[in-house]
Amino acid sequence: MHQCSIERHGKVEHYHGVSKQVEIRVLEKDETNMRLLVRGVDVPFLNALRRIVTSEVPSMAIDEIVVVENSSIMQDETIAHRLGLVPLRTDLDSYNLPEECPCKSEFGCNLCRVTLTMDVEAKEGVRTVYSGDLVSENPGIVPVSDRIPILKLAKEQKIKLEAYARLGKGKNHAKWEPVSMCTYKYYPKIEVTNRCSVCGKCVDICPRRVLVKKEDSIEVNDMIACTLCQDCVKACPESPPAIQVSGEENAFIFNLESTGTLAPERVLAEASKILDKQLKELEGEIKVKKSEKS
Ligand code: SF4
Ligand code: SF4
Ligand SMILES: [Zn+2]
Repeated sequence: MHQCSIERHGKVEHYHGVSKQVEIRVLEKDETNMRLLVRGVDVPFLNALRRIVTSEVPSMAIDEIVVVENSSIMQDETIAHRLGLVPLRTDLDSYNLPEECPCKSEFGCNLCRVTLTMDVEAKEGVRTVYSGDLVSENPGIVPVSDRIPILKLAKEQKIKLEAYARLGKGKNHAKWEPVSMCTYKYYPKIEVTNRCSVCGKCVDICPRRVLVKKEDSIEVNDMIACTLCQDCVKACPESPPAIQVSGEENAFIFNLESTGTLAPERVLAEASKILDKQLKELEGEIKVKKSEKS
């Protein structure tokens, strides 16, 4: 039976049915960014997780607008497009994906739709309309930032509209991607042999300032910053080079930057749940196919 689980700290015992030690260490984390060191997994697993993060983890975005009045020079379609791209704080526990909501209505209900309104008039003079001018019926579902410019109004121009936000997935439209970036790279391994003459050429050429020259040795200052570009190896005058840079087998640095819709750890937890569900479905399919054959 397959198992696929993730823990923020510590180790898990199973991975795709193979008993394996997986180690996950949080290297950095704040409100929107997370950087992990993951050991004991392979590229297909990490790539599946990355693809699920960008295309399957739902987030909330404006999906439809009704324009009541627009006397600006901006077309309704352009305003709709801009509003759709405003990241909204998302509550995955209180809302359903429209296709999974019991209401089965294309207009939606309180469990699958949030209404936001905008009513701005430039009374005094030129006025920029910002994401913060959207008023939400749910104070928990609001723009991540109030300072995203949407359009400009000249004196006496007006914009009045109603916007409907829904949960959706990045595979259907990029506005529903909960992350602005999700990448991984091999964990670097740097070795300096005793043939090193400490000339310092590798230190000078490194674009990421990974290496540092000490009195009689070269030391690694910031291993995680290394991009494995091999410039230091090429710059070494020794033959063969006295410095070797490679990626550690089955060890990766996983980076995730949330748009602010969901906390980065929630994005990863949701992605691992979805991967687990997909694997169970695949397992079920294979069993059905086998029993059909026999
Ligand atoms: S491989 Fe590139 S980034 Fe890494 S230490 Fe060498 S020069 Fe610096
Ligand atoms: S370039 Fe080569 S010899 Fe010079 S310090 Fe670096 S590793 Fe040592
Ligand atoms: Zn509904």
